[in-house]
Amino acid sequence: MTTHESANSALIDRFGRQVNYVRLSVTDRCDFRCVYCMAEDMTFLPRQQILTLEELYDVARAFVSLGVKKIRLTGGEPLVRKNILSLIERLGQLEGLDELVLTTNGSQLPKMAKDLKAFGVKRINISLDSLDPVRFRELTRTGDLSNVIAGIDAARDAGFERIKINAVIMRGRNEDEVLNLVNFARERKLDLSFIEEMPLGNITEHDRQLAFISSSELRDIISATFPLHPVVNDASTYTGGPSEYYSMSDSAVQLGFISPHSHNFCHLCNRVRVTVEGRLLLCLGNEHSVDLKEILRAHPGDSQLLKQSIREAMNLKPERHYFSLEDEPQIVRFMNMTGG
Ligand code: SAM
Ligand code: SF4
Repeated sequence: MTTHESANSALIDRFGRQVNYVRLSVTDRCDFRCVYCMAEDMTFLPRQQILTLEELYDVARAFVSLGVKKIRLTGGEPLVRKNILSLIERLGQLEGLDELVLTTNGSQLPKMAKDLKAFGVKRINISLDSLDPVRFRELTRTGDLSNVIAGIDAARDAGFERIKINAVIMRGRNEDEVLNLVNFARERKLDLSFIEEMPLGNITEHDRQLAFISSSELRDIISATFPLHPVVNDASTYTGGPSEYYSMSDSAVQLGFISPHSHNFCHLCNRVRVTVEGRLLLCLGNEHSVDLKEILRAHPGDSQLLKQSIREAMNLKPERHYFSLEDEPQIVRFMNMTGG
């Protein structure tokens, strides 16, 4: 595609925001059952309801031809999808896609990290909420900490451009591990982002309102040991992400804080999500969506129609989301359906 065509077909919404980043959920399944993400007893979708690998590829290709530069594979646990490496290999070859990245719980990395790097995955986010094996098992219900640490080390050995740890911090569960996690990241030279828990799906394990701990409180805890300096993003370095970054004077490691409650980043939003069922979701905190699976299955091979539908969907992107901890969750989907 020429630059001219790509400019004409760019995905611009009603508020002038350009969408150039897609988060693609490749499965709702997972080998963990993190307490903030899933119920213990989950029913997963039947196979015919989720996009096939071929359909996922078609969707990704359509987005890239519409100017999308970055695709993040997520889920559920993306690496437990059968034959996922074959899709990743093809995505890695898509012309025009600058960044193929992945969010994973790390459990499959000991065996997959090398292939992922070879197939063109540039950066990888690994979730890690606790460094205590017993607590890690409690939070994930099924996870094995030593396996995830082995996965992190396999990713470091494979030589990704950047590895980032994501930690959801909850009061009364793991807020006492904040400094340990910072030290872990510093020792291994990994970036680290702290995520405020979001009210997605009804959970029973804890009261989200009581467990809420704000990013500014986390920064206060960290600053007492490691003074933090805000990283100023100018237009050239800003990645459109919801993280606010901070640096420490004695380390190259950056700390990010993702604060959907206390920091509204919607005006800078450059992303959309595609759920595992092929629903194009225009905003994480709203239900506005377009059913791409229906289009793919009613008109197989019609890439023009698919692109047209994606372009038109931009008119549905809401200006912002409103998450509230006090109300019942407005969003009943669990994060594993949406792709976090
Ligand atoms: N399974 C992969 C993983 O855990 O990294 C990818 C999918 S997971 C849904 C993506 C991210 O969403 C993880 O970092 C997880 O901690 C986060 N997450 C899940 N549920 C959340 C919630 N209710 N609030 C905030 N973050 C959540
Ligand atoms: Fe699985 Fe990731 Fe959800 Fe944990 S956060 S249950 S690892 S999808």
